[in-house]
Amino acid sequence: LLGLRGATVRFGERTVLDAVDLDVAEHEVVCVLGPSGSGKSTLLRAVAGLQPLDAGQVLLDGADHAGVPAHRRGVGLMFQDHQLFPQRDVGGNVAFGLRMHGVSRAEQDRRVAELLDLVGLPGAARRPVAALSGGEQQRVALARALAPRPRLLMLDEPLGQLDRSLRERLVVELRELFGRLGTTVLAVTHDQGEAFALADRVVVMRDGRIAQSGTPLEVWQRPADAFVARFLGFDN
Ligand code: ATP
Ligand code: MG
Repeated sequence: LLGLRGATVRFGERTVLDAVDLDVAEHEVVCVLGPSGSGKSTLLRAVAGLQPLDAGQVLLDGADHAGVPAHRRGVGLMFQDHQLFPQRDVGGNVAFGLRMHGVSRAEQDRRVAELLDLVGLPGAARRPVAALSGGEQQRVALARALAPRPRLLMLDEPLGQLDRSLRERLVVELRELFGRLGTTVLAVTHDQGEAFALADRVVVMRDGRIAQSGTPLEVWQRPADAFVARFLGFDN
């Protein structure tokens, strides 16, 4: 479904994505792990078409999508900092992408209610987003990203601000939902437990490069190098 070929992004002197090659197959759930500043968000923004590449390509279904506007790529992105629409209520935020895709009013309401249940905010559709806590806003952003059922869903630290019990519940429910809808997922997280529970494959980034890519078991049992081992919390 998705292919990055030599994807490179520079900010001034700094190479933030350094010739990254990455393939994500249809229905695969891939979690990207890595230290702060290693280029995870930049990777997602590049795939979404929000960050132009200095070199290389983003392929969707084998075709270069350089000229295709973000909203036509069939990809959804949940931002690390939410970027909710402050003037709309919760329901208006969650339904945003549905309206753009011409989904009927009744179906919009049904899906909004279903997703708010899923993220643990039942009945919150008419609440103003400005009055929500950080974790509640994060859950609204997650519901908004899920609503249009994009073929490729990208999540940047989707559960970062939530407490452990809510995170554990959502990981299980998201895993079930992705399986049921056949969603292809590329998610960034700094929580290894979350990555290992959610992912078919884990990608570890370091300084704009992929240090290792493999199943959670492979990465856990055979870290590619000392960096990955240390990052995963092993001492040797
Ligand atoms: P975190 O875990 O903290 O979210 P990250 O892996 O998502 O980190 P990125 O946001 O991709 O990291 O940023 C990678 C590097 O690129 C950082 O050093 C950041 O300061 C730099 N960077 C990102 N966006 C820009 C920009 N628009 N201009 C200049 N530098 C940028
Ligand atoms: Mg980031």
